[in-house]
Order: sequence, then structure tokens, then C-alpha cells
Amino acid sequence: MSEKIPYKIYLEEHEMPKQWYNVRADMSKKPAPLLNPATLKPCTAEDLGHVFCDELVKQELNESDRYIDIPEEIQEFYKMYRPSPLVRAYCLEKKLDTPAKIYYKFEGNNTSGSHKLNSAIAQAYYAKQQGLKGVTTETGAGQWGTALSMACSYFDLDCQVYMVKCSYEQKPFRREVMRTYGANVTPSPSDTTEVGRKILAEFPDTNGSLGCAISEAVEKATSQDGYRYVLGSVLSQVLLHQSVIGMESKIAMDKYGITPDIIIGCAGGGSNLGGLISPFMGEKLRGEKDYRFIAVEPASCPSLTRGVYAYDFCDTGKVCPLQKMYTLGSGFMPSANHAGGLRYHGMSAILSELYDQGLMEAVSVEQTAVFEAAQQFARVEGILPAPESSHAIKCAIDEAMKCKETGEEKTILFGLTGTGYFDMYAYGAYNDGRMSDYIPTDEELKKSFDTLPKTD
Ligand SMILES: *Cc1c(COP(=O)(O)O)cnc(C)c1O
Repeated sequence: MSEKIPYKIYLEEHEMPKQWYNVRADMSKKPAPLLNPATLKPCTAEDLGHVFCDELVKQELNESDRYIDIPEEIQEFYKMYRPSPLVRAYCLEKKLDTPAKIYYKFEGNNTSGSHKLNSAIAQAYYAKQQGLKGVTTETGAGQWGTALSMACSYFDLDCQVYMVKCSYEQKPFRREVMRTYGANVTPSPSDTTEVGRKILAEFPDTNGSLGCAISEAVEKATSQDGYRYVLGSVLSQVLLHQSVIGMESKIAMDKYGITPDIIIGCAGGGSNLGGLISPFMGEKLRGEKDYRFIAVEPASCPSLTRGVYAYDFCDTGKVCPLQKMYTLGSGFMPSANHAGGLRYHGMSAILSELYDQGLMEAVSVEQTAVFEAAQQFARVEGILPAPESSHAIKCAIDEAMKCKETGEEKTILFGLTGTGYFDMYAYGAYNDGRMSDYIPTDEELKKSFDTLPKTD
């Protein structure tokens, strides 16, 4: 009998990655450059330096270095909550009665409750190195704001968070966690910025959106001395930091001679999925191995499966650089009954390009099916998953059930990005049978595609 794989594979401290992996180095066709919205020319380091920290700008523009050293202080911080476990989902496999082997990389074991801390600590570190006073940001569901407040308090930086209004009202405890770490939290849109006041005047009853909160945070960063803006997803630098997820997974799997056939992740702005698949995608790009990669997105905010691949604004206020990505248009607002996170209108440029080249697949799932999968998972694996993460669970279960039909013993790896303790209203709606699905019509999508900028 072959040796049983442990339930949880933990790396030793000395096995943890000391460098991030930059998948762009192995892409023969690179993601399109960010454009300056005023000139429509590729952004220079100087353009970006007004908004972002200098070292992070270098990382954003770096398409050639395959590996980038993780500064020692960041490695030390990682050791507080990493390595994260790679778990063999024996109980789920048994429950599903599938021959598939299911693994998940669990990133929810820290107070922010998600993978976002991996990039928050890196961004706070570089802001501190640059001698800044603080940073501004937006948060939707609240995980990024929480992660960033933890990272800022560690480096003694001021942290100003614009939180999407409906989420600010629905998740008061998220706000208090952020305030406990010393962050200043403002519901967005607000009257503290010009762009916020403009949006409020036009749409007084708005619930807010990520795109709008981004505009406010950027304005706040560029109008105060010693501040820069930081973003928790979408950007290539964030995927770079999140590559620790994939590298740890790969080191752990290699140690036990496991090769995944399918790698699955939920996709909001694309950072956890990009981080998880990067080292495996590198092997595929170099022609060394082949894997199936699947991005899972909500049917109510389907940027990859129904969006267009075009230059678009990253924010509603149209102050950020233009990025070529799969997008629903920066004016897109997901339906108010959408509870499952992943509500950003666009997608990482790296993932967009990989998807466009046919190197990655994408599926969309409806939220009631996502919560059903979440409940099924929670009942056998013991972890209460975040709704975002549950998109990946849903897809992993679907793939495992296909294996049951065909008898194939595929190995599935998925990213379990976080825990759902702050999503109990959504779980409550599901448990009461009050949750519904909303899929935007083609006409609605067309309307928001009409807001795309003309770049040629
Ligand atoms: C933010 C978040 C996501 C989605 O963001 P990506 O950048 O697409 O990874 C997924 N899961 C959790 C728990 C999150 O907090």
C-alpha cells in the first residue's frame, strides 16, 4: 500500500519561498501596457509614481525578472501565519463518493480571514521604506481593508479606507476590526472627496461600488502629502505577491509526488487565482507540463465569461490608468441582491491575456448553487468558507462529480481563500430560502459596454 497522504501538508519554515514568481517573465505575449487616461500613451514609472509607491511601480512594470526577492521583514511577517496548510479533502471525497482526489490550499488562517494579507504586508512594507505617512484604499466585502489595517499597524502607517456603502452598513463588525487596528473607515461614496460628492449628487440613493470607492481613495491619496494609494487585487504586483500561495502549494505537492490535473480558483480581480496558478502556469508556458486552469466567477458579475477584452477604466471616476482586460464596463453595478463578493467589473490584465490565449478556462456560477456548495463543504470539512471561496468549491465539486461518472481519478487543487464569519447575513438569506439569483441581461450588459472608452 502506498503511503497515505496526510490530511494537512505543512511546509517547514526553511522550505517557504524566499522569492515571488513573476509569471509575465514566461509569457511570450505580455499583457497590454497600462495607458495614461489623459494621453492614451503607455504609463511611465513617473505617471504611476504619483499614485503608487515607487518600488511597487517597478514591480508593476517588471515583465522580465522571473523571480523577485521577498524582503526579509516580509518573510518574517509571513511566518506569523504561513505556511498555510494544503489540505487533502478526504471527508469531502468520501461524502461525494468520487474517485477524484481533492486538495485545497487554505488561506483563511489569519485575522483578515483571507489571502489578502499576503499582498497587504508587502505594500505596507514598501510604503514604509519610502518614508510615507500613510496609504489610502477601498474595500468591498472588507477583507482587503482588514488585511491592510493589520499590515499598516505593524509598520505604524496611517491607513484610510473607503468602504463600499452597502457593505459598510451590512458588516459593522468588519469596520470595527479595521478600527481596532487603527484604520480610519469612511462609507463610499462620501462627501470627503470631489468625486464622491459628484457621484452622490448624480445618484443620491447609490449603494456604492468598488469602482467608486477606488476613485475616492485615489483622490485622497493624490491630494495629501506623504500618501499613496494601494489596491488589493487586479494589479500585476498583487498577483506577484500572491504567488506565495502557488509556490507553497507546488513545493508541498512536489514533496509528496502529487501532480494536479485541474487547478481551480474563484476570480474577483484575479489575485488569488493568479497567485495560485502562477508557478504551474509557468511550467505550462515553458512547455514542461500541462494543467487545466479554471477561473470561477459569479453569474451576476461575469467579466471573463460575458465581458469584452478591451481597454477600460479601473474605477468609476475615471481617474486611474486604463487597463486592457476582460470587463463589463466601469459603469457596471452588480445587482443589490448579490451577496457573494467578487463584484469588480474587470479582471487582472495577466489573467485576461492568459484567458484570451486559451491557456485558462472560465465558468460562471449562480449564488444559490454557490451557497449550497459552501454548506456541503462546511458540514464535512469543518471550515465555514467565505462566499467568494465557495465559487471555487462549487466548481471543484462539479469536476469531482464528473470524475464519478467517468471513473477517472483526477487530482483537483482549489484555492480556499478565506472564511465567511462576516457573511452571516448572506448565509442567513440562504438558510431561510430568501436568496435568489440574478443574471444580467444582454441589454443591461450592452448598456455598460457603451461606457467603455474609445482608445483608437
Ligand atoms: C477578495 C477576496 C477574493 C477575490 O479576490 P481576488 O483578487 O480575485 O482573489 C476571494 N476570496 C476572498 C476570501 C477574498 O477576500
